[in-house]
Amino acid sequence: MDDLKFGTRNKRGDWSPNGRIEVAPFWAWPPKILKVLHWLPEYIWPWNTFHMLTALAYWYFIVPSVETMKTLSWGWPLYLYAVNAAAIFVMYGSIELFFYVKRVQGNRFKYNAKFPSEQPSDVFWFKSQNIDNFMRSFFISIPLWTVAEVLMLWCFANGTASWVNWHDHPYYLAALVFVAPVIHEVHFFVIHRLIHTPLLYKWIHSVHHNSVNPSPWSSLSMHPVEGFLYHAVALWHLVIPSNPIVALFQLHIAGFGAVNGHIGFEKLEVTEGTAVDSHAYAHYLHHKYFEVNYGGDGLIPLDKWFGTWHDGTKEGEVQMQSRFEKKKARMNDKNTQASSRT
Ligand SMILES: [Zn+2]
Ligand SMILES: [Zn+2]
Repeated sequence: MDDLKFGTRNKRGDWSPNGRIEVAPFWAWPPKILKVLHWLPEYIWPWNTFHMLTALAYWYFIVPSVETMKTLSWGWPLYLYAVNAAAIFVMYGSIELFFYVKRVQGNRFKYNAKFPSEQPSDVFWFKSQNIDNFMRSFFISIPLWTVAEVLMLWCFANGTASWVNWHDHPYYLAALVFVAPVIHEVHFFVIHRLIHTPLLYKWIHSVHHNSVNPSPWSSLSMHPVEGFLYHAVALWHLVIPSNPIVALFQLHIAGFGAVNGHIGFEKLEVTEGTAVDSHAYAHYLHHKYFEVNYGGDGLIPLDKWFGTWHDGTKEGEVQMQSRFEKKKARMNDKNTQASSRT
């Protein structure tokens, strides 16, 4: 595919898409019904369908019986960890293998012209972004994903959570499935904004941001506090009446869905003429500029409401720069006041 039909490439070789990142069309006023109808299939397919299919596969083939889950032991949690790790290894690993190791698509649709393996840095374990991100994912974040999963399943098994049955309340649960990505968006925005406050950033979130040019392995490369808080989104289903399948769906939007923001390519070419959209650009800009796009790509436009939205256009860039300038001026003022007091 010719990526220059969809975007432009600068002197450094970095590619950026034409047009702007649009927030979900139901926020438009007056309502744009046609746009909403066009957006709906994209909301459902392919990513959320994939997360639901994996949730169903887990529930019917992997998650142990309710009787087993009533008791906390080492066996079934370790088994769940092994499955989560294997699934991430296959899913993230195949994107890494084809697009970053074999580079089947070369630089087409790639936001940053460089590949992480070409940029060794002291900030990473063994100076390698790939090794560092891989180890943090498998030895920190995926274990903590499993902790949230085990806690959630154990509460359902014990009756601590209110378990709504599909047979009795199919519409309620279907609606809950439909809004699960919204819950994800709000949960992620809140914890993410929180760990961007100076102290927590330094202590926790800087680990994730070491990857300025993220690849799939960067998705779950997190400090343990972030690794747990991020996956704890599934625990909302212990508070609201829900069902373990919906809670698993919620967890998979987080665990498997983390890759979306970190693919590094706008499109993954499947055949000569077809490609899957990654929806990665908004979060790529977050990794590039740090203080923009704390949420996802505009399902709930929290960044727009809080003034931190970068829609990928020149105007978005100008707005961001003027916000940075103002912040700098505020900091300078504070410093001058502090030094005049001493
Ligand atoms: Zn990220
Ligand atoms: Zn961040």
